[in-house]
Amino acid sequence: MEYKFLLDEEKVPRAWYNIVPDLPTPLPPPVHPGTGQPLPPDGLATLFPQALIAQEACGERWVEIPEPVREAYLLWRPTPLYRARRLEKTLQTPAHIYFKYEGGSPPGSHKPNTAVAQAFYNKQEGVKRLTTETGAGQWGSALAFACRLFGLECKVYMVRASYLHKPYRRVLMETWAAQVVPSPSPETPFARQLLAENPEHPGSLGIAISEAVADATSRTDTHYALGSVLNHVLLHQTVIGEEALVQMEMAGEFPDVVIGCVGGGSNFAGLAFPFIREARREGCPTRFLAIEPLACPSLTRGSYTYDFGDTAATTPLLKMHTLGHKFVPPPIHAGGLRYHGMAPAVSALVEAGIVQGRAYAQTAVFQAAVQFAQAEGFLPAPETAHAVKAALDEALAAREEGKKQVILFNFSGHGHFDLKAYEEFLAGRLADHVYEPAPVSSFIP
Ligand SMILES: *Cc1c(COP(=O)(O)O)cnc(C)c1O
Repeated sequence: MEYKFLLDEEKVPRAWYNIVPDLPTPLPPPVHPGTGQPLPPDGLATLFPQALIAQEACGERWVEIPEPVREAYLLWRPTPLYRARRLEKTLQTPAHIYFKYEGGSPPGSHKPNTAVAQAFYNKQEGVKRLTTETGAGQWGSALAFACRLFGLECKVYMVRASYLHKPYRRVLMETWAAQVVPSPSPETPFARQLLAENPEHPGSLGIAISEAVADATSRTDTHYALGSVLNHVLLHQTVIGEEALVQMEMAGEFPDVVIGCVGGGSNFAGLAFPFIREARREGCPTRFLAIEPLACPSLTRGSYTYDFGDTAATTPLLKMHTLGHKFVPPPIHAGGLRYHGMAPAVSALVEAGIVQGRAYAQTAVFQAAVQFAQAEGFLPAPETAHAVKAALDEALAAREEGKKQVILFNFSGHGHFDLKAYEEFLAGRLADHVYEPAPVSSFIP
């Protein structure tokens, strides 16, 4: 096929990297909220196919990428690694700034790296239909795209406020033949009740997750798909870092600092985990920075404890940095970073001192995004802009110290559907929200 002439097929990895066996301490297992005991292996069987459940608890370092998934990757992978020379010049920094560009996938972010894998394994086990939730619309469009590639039906519960205010992500999902409904919807009992109380209910990610899960458990032909947080999602995203390792080697450099924004932690993990492996093996003092919004700072201000993954308290308990499952983040523009918890593997690496969290306010983040766009052209998604801000700060620190630093960050997605947010920033209407600390209790019974 033609695209194979345009991309170097050999540079797309043949295996995903599982960091779990390389963690300094064993990863605390998911726990059943009723018994307080580790979740039995079949505890997730109504939601996920066996292959993904096995990957969730996998102890092997490498997991082979199935050929149909690798073939799907070839539609947009390998993704380019850029050196931001114009930005370096603008900042007058001795730092070298590299970024891995995940904005060139059809849905425009890193999320299809796991969506195509999840659609494939579900298809292989005879599932006909997938449900999911979406806030800003990035994950919903990635899954809609993946379901189209593998011939599955897709139903997306989209947070009603986004459904009304961000119609173009919905149109993209519908173009890929997904069915999109505003959540709360009249289709699940829990949400019907919410609608009866308030027909204008704006919805939330927590409610939409509850609806998608309820839909999937009510039908035998349907499973549920999650776009971040879980081990199998992080595993699939490591194609980013494995490609970047090869590309950095071609550039003749190894990063002093690796940066990613974190919502549930998957794009950060995808880039960082392979570099953590290599840095630890070679004894390199590389730093790893996970960047979050000040309005939703789970890594820097949350508690490291067992908590639910959803607002309705229906999921297994995960040991993670959390602001509490009832926490409702303010409506910042980086919708993909408005999650109360964090991937357990990322949390464990923060506890071990290998990864550092850092939080920024959104006006500073948009300032950095505009500076980046004016130097390099590419327009970052508001989520991605958090990583851009950290890369800028690191480059400026290198200038202060007069020290060459090799900076690598993950450009997790483009901002072409987020121009409303840029419009508000350019008009000076953007406000900063800062987290008000509240106690978080552990939910281990
Ligand atoms: C969803 C999203 C994120 C946040 O999710 P992670 O799982 O933390 O990666 C970051 N950037 C973009 C562009 C996204 O769409």
